[in-house]
Amino acid sequence: MLIDTHCHLNFPDKFPDVAATVEQAKLNGVDKLIVVGCDTQSSRRAVELADQFDSIFAVVGWHPTYTKDFTQESLGEIQELLDHPKVVAIGEIGLDFHWDYATPEQQRVALDAQLDLADRSGLPVVFHARDAYPQLLDILEARPILPYLFHCFAGDSVDAQRALNLGSMFGVDGPISYKNAGSLREVIQSLPKDRIVIETDSPYLTPEPHRGKPNQPAHVKFVNEALAKTLQIPVVECARMTTENAERFFRLN
Ligand SMILES: [Zn+2]
Repeated sequence: MLIDTHCHLNFPDKFPDVAATVEQAKLNGVDKLIVVGCDTQSSRRAVELADQFDSIFAVVGWHPTYTKDFTQESLGEIQELLDHPKVVAIGEIGLDFHWDYATPEQQRVALDAQLDLADRSGLPVVFHARDAYPQLLDILEARPILPYLFHCFAGDSVDAQRALNLGSMFGVDGPISYKNAGSLREVIQSLPKDRIVIETDSPYLTPEPHRGKPNQPAHVKFVNEALAKTLQIPVVECARMTTENAERFFRLN
């Protein structure tokens, strides 16, 4: 059994037939899917899907890139969703300095507000960070520690060590299967095995051998295979380990 810990089946234009996508995942051994919000609308859609499908759980929050439109009202809307029993974390939140749709200040306001909300609710947090690991880690090191997961971790070994010191988990995606990802594989090899989960970030980051096509949760098995190869452990052992890690982090049992 596998768990896709990060996918966007809540993007209706990318996944017009969620039932078929969930079925396809199931046929490939993917029994649980975590659907992650990027703003209020996509967070609500994630919760809607969690209501419709036993295998789906929701993560709700505002992605840094969209925080130009984040208001006090947005925070209230996210807070309301937290009462749903299948909302398992707040995310994806963080900092993204690769894109400039939102200023660093706008991103920071939304990040702080949502971290405070996580602190009050006791829920784990799923981070999106791009070109911003040291800045995000500076912020987290100055706060009370919560259960953190760095989705699609792409930091260097120094970032990884700082995240480890905070007790964080690390999400591994399609890029681990790419030929030129040697330095990523080195960082992942250095992590304790109980800190790693697998994800697709569907419809993005399609793993080999399907790179170039749209991604879907069924493909998390290729991420698992590439991770097993990287860690030099059997594929079934890797599946067991990453499933156990995901169930523990998201409190799925
Ligand atoms: Zn995402």
